[in-house]
Amino acid sequence: MKLNDYKEEIYKCSGCGQCQGVCPVYEALKKECAVSRGKFKLLNAILNNDAKYSKKVLEYMDLCLHCNKCSLFCPSGINAQKIIETAQFDMLKNGIKNQKKLFPARILANKKLMKFAKIFIDIIRNFKILEMINLFNCPNNKLSRYFLKIKVKPQAEKKPSAKTIKALYFKGCINNYVNPSNQNAIKNILQNTPAEIIEADFNCCGLPLKSAGDFECFKEIARENIKTALEKDFDYLIFDCASCKSTFLSYAEYIDGKEKEKAEELTPKIISIYELLDIINYKPALKCDKIAVHYPCHADIKEKSAIKKLLSDCNIVETEDTCCGAAGSFLFDNNKISKEISSKKAESIIRSDANCVVTTCPSCILGLKQGLIKQKSDIEVCQLIELLN
Ligand code: SF4
Ligand code: SF4
Repeated sequence: MKLNDYKEEIYKCSGCGQCQGVCPVYEALKKECAVSRGKFKLLNAILNNDAKYSKKVLEYMDLCLHCNKCSLFCPSGINAQKIIETAQFDMLKNGIKNQKKLFPARILANKKLMKFAKIFIDIIRNFKILEMINLFNCPNNKLSRYFLKIKVKPQAEKKPSAKTIKALYFKGCINNYVNPSNQNAIKNILQNTPAEIIEADFNCCGLPLKSAGDFECFKEIARENIKTALEKDFDYLIFDCASCKSTFLSYAEYIDGKEKEKAEELTPKIISIYELLDIINYKPALKCDKIAVHYPCHADIKEKSAIKKLLSDCNIVETEDTCCGAAGSFLFDNNKISKEISSKKAESIIRSDANCVVTTCPSCILGLKQGLIKQKSDIEVCQLIELLN
C-alpha cells in the first residue's frame, strides 16, 4: 500500500467542504489542516512533487480521530481514513514517525509485556497505591484514578444450562488487562442462556497500530488473531468493544492470499455481544429513566439496532451523535483538542438531563468521563454490558 495507489481517489475531492461540517477536530481547531479536504490538498501537493513528507505533514495527518464521519458524508465517497493511514505508513517507511503514538501501540501489541503490566495494575488497584499514578504521566489524574479505582465485580458461580451456541470471546486490551468487570458481566449474563463462552489467547486487535500507519505490525497482529480464532470451534466471534469489532472486520482489506481468505471466512461470524443477545432473544429486566446512549463512531448499524432493542423498556434521552474525543492515544497525544471535543459531547449529555450515559467502547468511557469531569458533572458513565449485568 502506498499513497500513489490513492492518487485517483484523492483527485475526486471536489473541495465541497461537506467534511468540514462533521469533522470534530475541525470543529475544535477551525483549521483546514484538521479536516480531510485540507489533508488531501497537502497530499496532492506531495503526489505532484510540490511538497515533501515531513514531521509537520505527519502532525497534520495525526490530527484525526479516525471517526470516519467525513467519509460517511463525502459526496465523492472518499475513504479518508485509509488515505490518512497510508500517508502515515509512507512516512513511517521514510523514517518520519510519531513515537508518542507508535510506542504505546507496540506495547499493546506485546502480549508478554501486557501480561506483566496487568500484574502491575492489579497491585496498584489491590493495594490502593494511588500515589503511584504520577508514574503514568497521565494528563488527567482524575481519569487514571477512575481506572485504578474500578471495583472489579467477581464472576457469579456457574449454573449448568444447555448450551447450543459457541461464542468465541475477544476481550480486547482494556477488558483483558485493566478492567475485567466487563468480561465478568458477559459471563454472568450468558450463563443461563444457550450461549457458551469460549476463550482464546488473542493479541490486541491492532487498531492503535493501524491508526499510526504501522501496517507491517498491524498485518502481523491480524494474521496472529485470525490463526488464534480459527484454532477454535465456534459459531460466533463476539466483541464487547465496537472499535475492536470494526478492526477485525477490516483485516481482510489489509492482508493477501490464503490469509485474506481466512479473514473473509471469519467475517460473517463477527458480531457484538449485543447482537448475540438479540440472536438468543435475551430480554433484560432493565427499566431506566433518562438514559443517554453514546454510540461509538465505529459502531455499525447492526450493533446500534441490537442496543435499541435491549433498551426498549428504558426512557432514552436524545444527545448529539458526535465523537467523544478519546480515540485511543489521541486523548494523550492531543489532549487539549481531545478535551474540547469531549467537553462539547458532555454539554449535550448534560442538556439532555440524563441520569447516566452508556456506551460500548472502553475508550469512549474515557472520552465521556473526560468531558463530564471538565463540565463538573457527576453523571455516571458505564459500559452497557455492565448495566445489563
Ligand atoms: S466532503 Fe469529500 S469531496 Fe467534499 S471537500 Fe470533503 S473530502 Fe472533498
Ligand atoms: S476521520 Fe473524523 S477526525 Fe479524521 S478527518 Fe475525518 S471527520 Fe475529521
